[in-house]
Amino acid sequence: MNLQDKPSHLLHKINRVHDIAVELDPEEVWRCLGPSGGARESLHADVLKATDFAANASQPRGISRVLNVESAKRGKVHFESGYIAEGKQLPHLFEGAEGAVFMITTAGAGVETEVASMMERGDHIEGVVLDAGGSAVAINAAEQMQAQIMWEVEQAGYKVGPPITPGTEPWDLEGQLTMFDVLVADEIDVTLLDSRLMYPQKTQSRIIPFGRELRLVNDPDEAPCRTCRARRCPMRIEEYQGVPGE
Ligand code: SF4
Repeated sequence: MNLQDKPSHLLHKINRVHDIAVELDPEEVWRCLGPSGGARESLHADVLKATDFAANASQPRGISRVLNVESAKRGKVHFESGYIAEGKQLPHLFEGAEGAVFMITTAGAGVETEVASMMERGDHIEGVVLDAGGSAVAINAAEQMQAQIMWEVEQAGYKVGPPITPGTEPWDLEGQLTMFDVLVADEIDVTLLDSRLMYPQKTQSRIIPFGRELRLVNDPDEAPCRTCRARRCPMRIEEYQGVPGE
């Protein structure tokens, strides 16, 4: 069945732009800063300030598009309209997929512009903390957008797979070219640099496969990894728990 037979919100909404409201908690900034050790107390005020600044200076937005999957084999996933994603492991992640959601989410350039000024002035610690604030906004916005999309897809009767990001084991950074072919990211003021990194830096891109018979699902109770013996698999979603009856 073609996705065109499905409810209207899953149709091919080219350049569906998402405005996202982010309420940032200082703990999210701490997580982006990494282990703070003994610095927790001395950085406390900087983190609070960065949390406020990042939440106010960011302009979180996203763009998404749904495409049908036509085939997934021999290291390539073919989508409608001739788009292709290449990666040795991708066909496994797309086993049973009928479609995929392409999404890019950005925090905007407000935080990194200020971080650059701080670094120029020599305010390195404040700059590093605020940079973590920008990362926290981008992660928060991407997770909200992803949760909303996954909910819509599940409501339409599909299972969803784990999000796949360019620059990871199953899909190398060249995958960004496909992301930016599929999505007109100019609409949210995001551009792809020659390095394949994105500007603003505080931007995330990913695809989410879905299908009624999708094999590799984003649900711990259904994921086949629990009983899969490929113990060193870099895409493992769940810990190996053994094969029942063995
Ligand atoms: S652990 Fe097995 S089922 Fe899970 S992703 Fe790897 S190969 Fe696939």
